[in-house]
Amino acid sequence: MTTRQPLVAGNWKMNGSQVLLGEIAGALVGYQGKAEAVVCPPFPYLAAARAALPASVQVGAQNLSDQAEGAFTGEVAGSMLSEAGCRYVIIGHSERRALYGEDDALVAAKFAQAQAAGLVPILCVGETLEEREAGNTESVVCGQLLAVVEAVGIEAFASAVVAYEPVWAIGTGKTASPEQAQEVHATLRQTLSEKSPEIAASTRLLYGGSVKADNAALLFSQSDIDGGLIGGASLTADSFIAICQAA
Ligand code: PGA
Repeated sequence: MTTRQPLVAGNWKMNGSQVLLGEIAGALVGYQGKAEAVVCPPFPYLAAARAALPASVQVGAQNLSDQAEGAFTGEVAGSMLSEAGCRYVIIGHSERRALYGEDDALVAAKFAQAQAAGLVPILCVGETLEEREAGNTESVVCGQLLAVVEAVGIEAFASAVVAYEPVWAIGTGKTASPEQAQEVHATLRQTLSEKSPEIAASTRLLYGGSVKADNAALLFSQSDIDGGLIGGASLTADSFIAICQAA
C-alpha cells in the first residue's frame, strides 16, 4: 500500500506582510510534523520566505505565467519561482478561474510550465454552489481534472498535487462535511485510477475551503484526504501550526 505524506499549504492570497512572515517563520522553527508544511505568500515575499523558514518547510507561489519568458509585462515565470526557492505553485485556484478568466486550457498550460521549471503544481478544482445543487459536482471537478490530464498526460501527475476546493466553502466559513469531501476525493482518485492506478494511489489530494484548527483533524482523517489548502486560517501562526499538526 502506498503511503502518502500529508501536505498542508497556507495560501495567503493577497494578504500578509513581512511582519506576518516573521511570525509564521518564528512559529515554524524546528517544525517536525508528520505533514509537509508549505507557505504560499504573494510573489514579493517568496525569496524572504525561503530565507526565513526552516528547511523542513517548503515555499510555494500562488500563480505563474503560462509562458517561459519574454515580453509579458507583469507576469512571473516558473523558472523565476524556482530561483526564488519555491518548490510548489498553486494553479487554477477558483479565484483565478472566476476573477481572471482562467480556463482549463490556460490552467493546463500553467501546469506544464510549472513542471518544466521543476515546480510541483497544486492543481485546484471545485464546483460552485449552483453546480452542486444541480447535481453536477462530479462532472465539474472531474472535467477540470481531466482537462489537465489530457493536456499533459497522466505521468505528469506523478509529481503533482490536486486540491479539491468547493467554491461555496472558500472564505465562507461553510466547510464541506468530512463525508461530502471524502466522496469527491474518492471520485477524483478513481478518475486518476482509470488512467494509472499507481499514480492515483500516490497522488496527494488536499481539501480546501474554510479549514480551521477545529475541523481539520476530522477532514484529514478521511481515507482519501491527504491534507489541506488553507486560506484564512493560514494567516495566523497559531492556527496554521495547529492545522499542520492535525494532519
Ligand atoms: P479559506 O480559503 O481557507 O479561507 O476558505 C481556501 C483557499 O481558497 O485556498
